[in-house]
Amino acid sequence: MSPIPFLDLKAAYRELKREIDHAISGVLDSGRYVQGHAVESFEASFANYCGATHAVGVANGLDAIHLTLRAMGIGPGDEVIVPSNTFIATWLAVSHCGATPVPVEPIEGTHNLDPDRIERAITSRTRGIIAVHLYGQPADIDAIKMIAERHGLKLIEDAAQAHGARYRGQAIGAHGHAVTWSFYPGKNLGAFGDGGAVTTSDAALANRIRLLGNYGSRTKYINDVQGFNSRLDPIQAACLNVKLGHLDEWNARRRIVASIYLDILSECEVQLPHVPNWAEPAWHLFVVRVRERGVIQAELAARGIETLIHYPTPPHLQAAYRDAGMTAGSLPIAEQLAGEVLSLPIGPHMTSDDAQHVATNLLDCIRRSR
Ligand SMILES: *Cc1c(COP(=O)(O)O)cnc(C)c1O
Repeated sequence: MSPIPFLDLKAAYRELKREIDHAISGVLDSGRYVQGHAVESFEASFANYCGATHAVGVANGLDAIHLTLRAMGIGPGDEVIVPSNTFIATWLAVSHCGATPVPVEPIEGTHNLDPDRIERAITSRTRGIIAVHLYGQPADIDAIKMIAERHGLKLIEDAAQAHGARYRGQAIGAHGHAVTWSFYPGKNLGAFGDGGAVTTSDAALANRIRLLGNYGSRTKYINDVQGFNSRLDPIQAACLNVKLGHLDEWNARRRIVASIYLDILSECEVQLPHVPNWAEPAWHLFVVRVRERGVIQAELAARGIETLIHYPTPPHLQAAYRDAGMTAGSLPIAEQLAGEVLSLPIGPHMTSDDAQHVATNLLDCIRRSR
């Protein structure tokens, strides 16, 4: 069996090469290299896909969250609830506004925000909750939304890993006040470089995000606010428009890999992702928990199977957050997960044979490690 990479991005390009090359040359021929038709066209189709009335393209997923929080007026002195076990971008976006990220621990089975813990973290300064659909598994939005409404808080969904996921049958993209997206190449809907977007059904919010991402300017050389330069690149937008047409099919292929893993690995002691009956995950990542992770990961690597760790160090223990004063032991669930999670290869270009090979080898490694 040839080596199995964690994710084969070149295979994704090969499959769509003709369409992608055509989309790119279309932009090059148009002469519009910032904003323009390609961006507007992708924004319209992505908003439609998400069931939202607006999509605003931005430069990346971090900016999507940051500009959304700013557009909501969140700033110094404010607190925003974030998951303790997310990619650091969720925290950084809050910090970049001058506000304070307040971590809440996850439910272990789903790795997502535990609604029962949110209320205890709310203070008179809390302005919003960022629910991350981690690994492409939808968080329990109805429960979180009820808390947000009860306390008059904004609900932002960080859907950077959840393109095409569904919650109670409805696409992720329009449940909260705003939903933020990343099109980083490895995401389920990935560009050939950086990209991001915000979807929302609040027209005023969409306008404000657009304003902030375009130098605070609606009309050239008239600057209403001190904005940023954060726009979705038209070449990336044109490629994303092509890939959006394949997203559901490619997610279906991920689902097949996930079901093979769930099936074969149910016989062993690894902790598998728990999928609540209201969730249709996008299977961005397939994350198991194993106690002897270092040994297992090395043994899989020796057998040509590449695995990754999402994420080895939770944000509160990063040097970047040293000043926040959260020491080891302060968020025990996030810390334990960081020590045990292992992401198996998954992607639209893995075959069923590949998935079986990974799963049987993982089973074997675990049995030998006992
Ligand atoms: C990828 C990711 C981001 C950031 O996206 P970029 O486009 O890399 O800035 C934010 N949140 C989560 C959960 C992510 O996985």
